[in-house]
Amino acid sequence: MIERRCIEKGLRMTDQRRVIARVLSDANDHPDAEELYRRASAIDPNISLATVYRTVRLFEDSGIIERHDFRDGRARYEETPAEHHDHLIDVRSGDVIEFQSEEIEAMQIEIARKLGYRLVDHRLELYGVPLAEKK
Ligand SMILES: [Zn+2]
Repeated sequence: MIERRCIEKGLRMTDQRRVIARVLSDANDHPDAEELYRRASAIDPNISLATVYRTVRLFEDSGIIERHDFRDGRARYEETPAEHHDHLIDVRSGDVIEFQSEEIEAMQIEIARKLGYRLVDHRLELYGVPLAEKK
């Protein structure tokens, strides 16, 4: 939970930060700042878009959330996952599908090793359109 991580990191938790933390914790769709603002301001109408931007920057700088760029020009956020996953982005709907692949993970380590490196991090994004129209 984001709020607990913030407290562990020693961040001062205002009511507005707490609301934004809760909205982020509840989200599983990698929302952007404007979507976070919509959800947070529905709970506390005093929250401004500027506050959302400042707060996600703070959470991101603290390593509590991750920012993604899925090529649609808006930064999207998710709670830093306990277990690594990669993303497939549906370029028609903008939906983000999370996946894990042991083969890909192993292959990346091997590629880095062959190039003389120990892999410490990676990001992988797949962009696709649905094979069949979803009903
Ligand atoms: Zn994700």
